[in-house]
Amino acid sequence: MHEFSIVDSLIKLIDRQPFDSHEIKSVVVSAGPMRGIDENCLQWAWKETIHDTMLEKATLIFKPLPWVLHCKQCDKKFETEDFGAPCQCGNPNPTLSGGDELTLESLEIFEDQYDNSILNKTD
Ligand SMILES: [Zn+2]
Repeated sequence: MHEFSIVDSLIKLIDRQPFDSHEIKSVVVSAGPMRGIDENCLQWAWKETIHDTMLEKATLIFKPLPWVLHCKQCDKKFETEDFGAPCQCGNPNPTLSGGDELTLESLEIFEDQYDNSILNKTD
């Protein structure tokens, strides 16, 4: 189940942050649709992985991202739930732009909140 390797990547990112893992209350993560993440599997992998670690109290909050398509005809980028959506200009075949993002959006520690201005993106 590839959700375990995603959790491993997340934990490596969290380990690079300037606070102790046991202080972390929640972790907000976003991922593009190409990652193919099943949220139930991800939550299960998360709980299995953090069990008996410093991160044991941390909650994972998962935000799935929409598809981002790019139209070569009018050079527009747009978000959509539908991978096969046409562009508004009439082009039926906009190309996929990204979709494999995996980003640590924010961390909440038991005292404060940190946003992604101090966190690193994966890739
Ligand atoms: Zn277009």
